[in-house]
Amino acid sequence: MMREFEGKVALITGAGSGIGRATAQALAEGGAKVMAADLSAEAARESADLCEKAGGVCQATAADVTSAAQVEQMVNRTTEAFGRLDIAVNNAGIGGPAATIADYEEAAWRQVIDVNLIGVWLCMKYELAQMTKAGSGVIVNISSILGLVGFPQASAYVSAKHGVVGLTKSAALEYSGQGIRINSVNPGFIQTPMLEAAGMTPGTEMHEFLVGKHPAGRLGTSEEVAELILWLASDRASFITGGAYLVDGGYVAQ
Ligand code: NAP
Repeated sequence: MMREFEGKVALITGAGSGIGRATAQALAEGGAKVMAADLSAEAARESADLCEKAGGVCQATAADVTSAAQVEQMVNRTTEAFGRLDIAVNNAGIGGPAATIADYEEAAWRQVIDVNLIGVWLCMKYELAQMTKAGSGVIVNISSILGLVGFPQASAYVSAKHGVVGLTKSAALEYSGQGIRINSVNPGFIQTPMLEAAGMTPGTEMHEFLVGKHPAGRLGTSEEVAELILWLASDRASFITGGAYLVDGGYVAQ
């Protein structure tokens, strides 16, 4: 890959697994200095090690995106380590249990909103404080196709991911005059540990059902999502802000 991110500093949340790990690796291969943040310090460290093996400069930090203090510390660690913050990928997320609305446990519903929506806002709050000082920056928030369409038994996740699309649009309006671009990426179903934890492993009935929902005839890969994230984070997307970009094998086109 061309080292088009040379001199840039990138922070990725949920970087210890799936889409976050693939994005950290791709940014490191592209020349960015990468802070890999995750709930699990060990998973973040493993991702940073993989980035370094790929020739990158990476550090790891543990941060729970639902904690303002930990998010602030995560952003501070990034600027202390690398001197600046150019690219933030707010990717940390959870699926939550599958249940209809009447049967959904309140604590579980609140937890999904806390991680998937309030977590993205908290990250932006501290990232933007840094980026506005510099007068430049790019944020990519990871939403979902379920930020654009509904899905049964996933009301908390669907609501949070729709919220991320709206939050992204509002943020773009507030900060585009300050040299900061903010977009969301909306993936279809991607084969990651998140899906596997929900029992959607290849060969299962649920996996076949999900494959059938994608006109491409398969689920996506983390690397395919990372491609779009990197493009939006690059200077090639210089006139693009406030948008929601699909990488979904045609799911939403139906
Ligand atoms: P993943 O493999 O489970 O990775 C998510 C990472 O986020 C995990 O390392 C997880 O840690 C971490 N995390 C969870 N809660 C956190 C918190 N409170 N603070 C910090 N980190 C936290 O999932 P993925 O599939 O790569 O998903 C990445 C993003 O893409 C999510 O926002 C997800 O909603 C979105 N997405 C995924 C799909 C899909 O089909 N896979 C589709 C559309 C959108 P633990 O493992 O320790 O929980």
